[in-house]
Amino acid sequence: MHISVWEKESFYAHRDVIIAGGGFTGLWSAWHLKKQHPDLTITIVDRGIIPTGASTRNAGFACFGSVTELISDVRHSGEDQMLELVKMRYKGLQYIRKVFGKKAIDFEKCGGYELFTAATPVNPRELDEQIEWLNYKLHPIVHEKKAFRKADKKIKQFGFSGVTHLLENKLEGYLHSGKLCQALLQQVQSMGVTVLNGIELTGFEQNAASVILFNKQDIPLSADQLLVCTNAFAKQLLPALDIVPARGQVLLTAPLPDLPFKGTFHYDEGFYYFRNLGNRVLLGGARNKAFAEETTDNMAITDTIQQELEHFLSTCLLPGVQYSITDRWSGIMGMGTEKMPVIRQVHPNVFCAVRMSGMGVALAPLAGEKAASLLLHHRP
Ligand SMILES: Cc1cc2nc3c(=O)[nH]c(=O)nc-3n(C[C@H](O)[C@H](O)[C@H](O)COP(=O)(O)OP(=O)(O)OC[C@H]3O[C@@H](n4cnc5c(N)ncnc54)[C@H](O)[C@@H]3O)c2cc1C
Repeated sequence: MHISVWEKESFYAHRDVIIAGGGFTGLWSAWHLKKQHPDLTITIVDRGIIPTGASTRNAGFACFGSVTELISDVRHSGEDQMLELVKMRYKGLQYIRKVFGKKAIDFEKCGGYELFTAATPVNPRELDEQIEWLNYKLHPIVHEKKAFRKADKKIKQFGFSGVTHLLENKLEGYLHSGKLCQALLQQVQSMGVTVLNGIELTGFEQNAASVILFNKQDIPLSADQLLVCTNAFAKQLLPALDIVPARGQVLLTAPLPDLPFKGTFHYDEGFYYFRNLGNRVLLGGARNKAFAEETTDNMAITDTIQQELEHFLSTCLLPGVQYSITDRWSGIMGMGTEKMPVIRQVHPNVFCAVRMSGMGVALAPLAGEKAASLLLHHRP
């Protein structure tokens, strides 16, 4: 297709910055760039009709980590990294609330829980020590002395079966991911950012002054700087990155007349998660039941995982309750050997902010801020 001069000088004009990927990370990066430097010309390029990775396909938890998950992170990556991640997530959630308030994005500080069953046994004394230690370490970040506490008394009230222990985190909440993504998109567009959808980037070439972007649609695109925010799909543009796709599958029930629980729930070190959405149950995870199969960027659903989720739902969460499932979907997370996002300069004019793992709703505002500072620091 031949491009008109009008198109060349408007939609496809050379920019100060092109951001690849219009999920939460790309959008927050554009937001911070514009806040710090309103004159900057920016285009976000996304291959989807809407952002199509994880940002509009997640569970909408506004969370910063459950007890077992954070303890497991300390064992894997050390205390400092765990605390740094909690800080980024917690501050990120505060940022979201500051910018959008509660109503526009259906944010509610509903409280979060972690549950244990015979399949995930814990030593109660060890658990007490872990709660005490985490509360002490997280206090300077969350300004709450007892973020985590035992809530075994609520097990019966919630109607669960086979649950041996329950922990509560009253600082957790949930939100509507679709509304947040749309509101953020509208904000960056109102700040003057061009958003181009339906363009799949395949590579780039750099010269001294600019970056030229190749794409399947053969649209002429170039910028002084490129920021890659394609998360799980980043290897397509930056093959050397330590990032692997991890599919997350979800199901949603029809409304239930008397849903006995409300809040966000974590199970099995965060591999399972569920929440109420009004009086429906949104349940996702079980990736650890088929790791190899779920290490994919194919946005499909599978019988193995869906059946596992349904088993958990019927035996543990809604025992003896009649329900039907109305929706099923999947999204793709970007994981790696570490949970810390990769935010760095890759080439002189090319940068990345990727690997948002399973808590990118919370991480993206700060990841975007860091990425924006990095680009501005290296501005030609
Ligand atoms: C099932 C599921 C549940 C989750 N639950 C939660 C939760 O409750 N709370 C939480 O905090 N986090 C959750 N997450 C994680 C969170 O959604 C992600 O970490 C976050 O959305 C990542 O945002 P991102 O912008 O970095 O990536 P993405 O949202 O994946 O955005 C990347 C974008 O890049 C585009 N793209 C890819 N390749 C190209 C290309 N070649 N050219 C152009 N565009 C391209 C894609 O279309 C996509 O829009 C969940 C994830 C999943 C999958």
